[in-house]
Amino acid sequence: MNSKIPSIQIPLNIPTFTGNERIHVDNLLNNPGLLNEGKYTQLCTEWFESEYGKPVLLTKSCTHSLELSALLLDIQPGDEVILPSYAFVSAANAFVLRGAIPVFTDVRREDMNLDPNLIEAAITPKTKAIVVVHYAGVSCDMEAMQALTQKHGLYLVEDAAQGIMAKYQGKYLGTMGDLGCISFDQMKNLTCIQGGLLILNDDRFIDRADILFENGTNKKQFLAGKSNFYHWVDLGSNFKLSEIQAAYLYGQLEKALEITQKRLSDWNFYFHRLKPLAEKFGFNLPQIPSDTHHNAHIFYLKMQNKAQRDAFSEFFRRKGALATFHYVPLHDTEFGLKTSRFHGSDQHTQLESQRLVRLPLYYSIQNHEIEHICNLVGKFFLDQVHPNEV
Ligand SMILES: *Cc1c(COP(=O)(O)O)cnc(C)c1O
Repeated sequence: MNSKIPSIQIPLNIPTFTGNERIHVDNLLNNPGLLNEGKYTQLCTEWFESEYGKPVLLTKSCTHSLELSALLLDIQPGDEVILPSYAFVSAANAFVLRGAIPVFTDVRREDMNLDPNLIEAAITPKTKAIVVVHYAGVSCDMEAMQALTQKHGLYLVEDAAQGIMAKYQGKYLGTMGDLGCISFDQMKNLTCIQGGLLILNDDRFIDRADILFENGTNKKQFLAGKSNFYHWVDLGSNFKLSEIQAAYLYGQLEKALEITQKRLSDWNFYFHRLKPLAEKFGFNLPQIPSDTHHNAHIFYLKMQNKAQRDAFSEFFRRKGALATFHYVPLHDTEFGLKTSRFHGSDQHTQLESQRLVRLPLYYSIQNHEIEHICNLVGKFFLDQVHPNEV
């Protein structure tokens, strides 16, 4: 082991912080009376509704948005939901909590998103919905997904947790399914540390969403003067984002384009700097389909296999930078084995997830740090080629 203390320490992520958040949070802290008014929740809601042209609800997390989606779709025990196994656990849990069975189908090798060609064979009379995950903020083939859900009378839910500001054929991710779910967790491009959004793309969900959102009461109607009192009328929970977090988030929404552009420019820096190395040493870079505008949420490499990927992560750890993987495919987990099934054969999900490794990428990362990481990538492969010259 190298006992020298590494000179540069680069984490995988530092939560986005622009300084602008402070203005709005301070405003609230200096005027506690404002907390009653929900001013920042209102400002954020208006920002999204004007960008998306669709009604939205600000939630405590994308997990809450997914759970609210499962309630809105009236998912019943025994219903089936098709989704990728290469996903964060909350996309499956939201439906398992309603008694549904996750049915996983394989992802595409090139972008880790659901392969639309494999979905039809997994549809049964019990199938209720397709839940797509836009991995790394790169859109799924939404044209194909919409065609499938229309043909079979299924709901389409977008887990666009990673997809803020990203687009497909000019449309924002999260605005194309019946429901869209976005995350403002600290790992995401825009963050209020914990927070989420539900986009209601189909008007028939609006009234019931307002009720489920308010603990299953008609409080919203009451506040609008449409009812003399409010009481318990349906299922529900407290899904609401706190006003302090809305103030924090609003500071980032004002800089949403700037944050996204900074990330894209860093992502492109990685891509162009690593392209010749990828060709020389036989690893893969992310592929972006032509009709998508991604948001540079993740920069990843794919190594030849798991052994090489693990060696790469370990090499980075020793050099003081973090390059890690995520998502053990859900069908291969203890709880996944009990609750779910994988339809068809797993050609790519397991193998590709084992090859994938993420490089540090965050709003405050500096060019010289990216340069340093790219140099480390080159060093790792040279060490493999000439292991005795280390
Ligand atoms: C982060 C993430 C979630 C969960 O978001 P939270 O806001 O932390 O609940 C769900 N799905 C995907 C794909 C994610 O990346």
